[in-house]
Amino acid sequence: MAIIRCPKCAKSISDKYKQCPHCESNISELNDEQVQQLQREQQIKKKQMFINHSFLALILFLGGFFCLYFLQPQKETLEWYAYTIAIGVGCIWYLINRIILVTLKKKR
Ligand SMILES: [Zn+2]
Repeated sequence: MAIIRCPKCAKSISDKYKQCPHCESNISELNDEQVQQLQREQQIKKKQMFINHSFLALILFLGGFFCLYFLQPQKETLEWYAYTIAIGVGCIWYLINRIILVTLKKKR
């Protein structure tokens, strides 16, 4: 018995299953080409998700940066903390997404 990934929902399942217990798609009915096609689609979707995330992270980072720069809140006030955290979280979030995207590209 081996553990494979469902071509539709990408969850780990046993290759003994004829039907995925998670999404109920019929695995045995799919041919290799269809399986590959589904995997490709999943990869693209995944990639798109991380691109969207890195875009949001960039907005968060830039938003925090501009607020801090133009509004110039006093240090250690609530606003100052909020903008600083936005910059920090945005920066880390962005970097994590870039790293994931690079590793996704390498896998192919
Ligand atoms: Zn499934």
